[in-house]
Amino acid sequence: GVAVYPDHGTDTNTLIRKAYVAQESDDARDRGLAYYHPNQDSYSADRLTLASSLRDALRKDELALFFQPKQSLTDQSIVGVEALIRWPGRKIPTPADQIIGVAEQTGLIKPLTRWVLEKAMVARDELVAAGHPHLSVSVNISPNNLREQEFPLFVQRLMTSYPQHAGKIILEVTETSMMLDPANSLRALRSLDYTGIPLSIDDFGSGYSSLSYIKRLPASEIKIDRSLITDLTFQAEDRVIVQTTINMCHDLGYKVVAEGVEDLETAELLAGMDCDMIQGFHLTPPQPMEEILLWLTGQNGREQRGA
Ligand code: C2E
Ligand code: MG
Ligand code: MG
Repeated sequence: GVAVYPDHGTDTNTLIRKAYVAQESDDARDRGLAYYHPNQDSYSADRLTLASSLRDALRKDELALFFQPKQSLTDQSIVGVEALIRWPGRKIPTPADQIIGVAEQTGLIKPLTRWVLEKAMVARDELVAAGHPHLSVSVNISPNNLREQEFPLFVQRLMTSYPQHAGKIILEVTETSMMLDPANSLRALRSLDYTGIPLSIDDFGSGYSSLSYIKRLPASEIKIDRSLITDLTFQAEDRVIVQTTINMCHDLGYKVVAEGVEDLETAELLAGMDCDMIQGFHLTPPQPMEEILLWLTGQNGREQRGA
């Protein structure tokens, strides 16, 4: 991490702190060297305000979860929903990745993930009460959670308090986040797997994991990144990559979900490629639970009419 006198500071403490900030950046990780840049600085004024508002919002229970359904391509049935974080009351709209980014840089990710997991349990209670006991709820977790020694224990305790959700709460971890620390991620995923919680590898194809690593993962599901799905109908190369990924994942025993499916044509193409499930705006964008329950009712009607 590099900080330069006098551009980045005029005293030793400031310079060292900023060199540390640079050292923590993606550039430093990717290239082994990085110069300080104010917008990576999690201690800069903007970040501090955002972080303290987020801490407040979490305490006051002002965050929310939206849900997006996941559909089986075998029989068109809905098999589960993914929980996605939202911050409804905030004046400046803050997308999920930004909320998560700030939470990760400030240590708030620990309470945030716990909050999301607790809410996911309540959400699945609502789904069951509304007559959808077969639906799973997927929760995204951050690489920082995998580094917490006690995270698997927390998950195990939570699942013990909600035995009705056993096997129906799925944890999603992104491929890129695992690759930051492959050995430790594998260890953490194995302890989670040991507690019996199904695991899913998110954004697959956006990182650079090796096949030998992938085959050791105790996951049951792989989600192919949206970037490979978006242009599927007109990019022959993407079709080759996606078809190869689907075949490989099936051979390794994983179910395959395609993310970011926006139209019927793409869904049909994926069905022809033997992809197991889809998620995306083609079905519906993420919505609050009440809306999703209404949507599910409509969906049931369509299934019964055979459409
Ligand atoms: P993700 O887990 O890969 O979630 C899918 C993202 O794609 C969601 O964005 C969703 O709204 C969006 N999406 C779904 N279908 C389509 C589509 O057809 N087209 C397009 N263009 N986009 C689609 P969102 O909600 O903004 O979340 C972004 C990312 O933030 C998530 O990606 C996930 O990595 C992270 N995230 C969201 N909620 C949480 C959370 O509670 N905890 C953690 N650790 N991460 C979260
Ligand atoms: Mg996800
Ligand atoms: Mg994803």
